[in-house]
Amino acid sequence: MSTLSELCEEIAVCQRCDLAKYRTKAVPGEGSENAEIMFIGEAPGWHEDQQGRPFVGPAGQYLDNLLASIGLKRGQVYITNVVKSRPPGNRDPLPVEISACRQWLNCQIEIIHPKMIVTLGRYSMALFFSGKSISKIHGTAQRRDNIIYYAMYHPAAALHQQSLRRAIEEDMLKIPSLLTEAEVMTEDKPQPQQLTMFE
Ligand code: URA
Repeated sequence: MSTLSELCEEIAVCQRCDLAKYRTKAVPGEGSENAEIMFIGEAPGWHEDQQGRPFVGPAGQYLDNLLASIGLKRGQVYITNVVKSRPPGNRDPLPVEISACRQWLNCQIEIIHPKMIVTLGRYSMALFFSGKSISKIHGTAQRRDNIIYYAMYHPAAALHQQSLRRAIEEDMLKIPSLLTEAEVMTEDKPQPQQLTMFE
């Protein structure tokens, strides 16, 4: 069994916060252990809680379409959330729940070692782009320690608002060239630790 599957088994029985009391199934995440791109959403919803899999409801179907727009299937990337158990009534995750789950996310990033982390929505963005506003930074990337961090709107928000839908679809289309650019930069010269903004 791989290290990632072992980690997911631990997450499945996690009791680190009160969300464990309300969930049907924990939703550790799924996809390739060798994924170049990791997508991080907010929290499981009703469908995800029933199935123990991330993004399997309407927002997930939309995410699948967005992935298809750049020639990817969900098995080629890794998809997870900031919190791994559904907040009751789909409320926003609390700071205490986010920090209890942070360790799991850190382990997933360490094991998968993605080239790019794509944040979906405000809660995920806040972990990696502190103090920023999603309406300002969506579709822009920062490079830190050889990982590209890229902020996008949440697919559920985009499903319900036409203007965000256009933005998320355009932002998704930028991902392949950002990855290629980053590979060229890595080959050319090792990156210093400071941030490099791509617009
Ligand atoms: N919304 C999320 O943020 N994550 C899911 O897994 C499903 C919907």
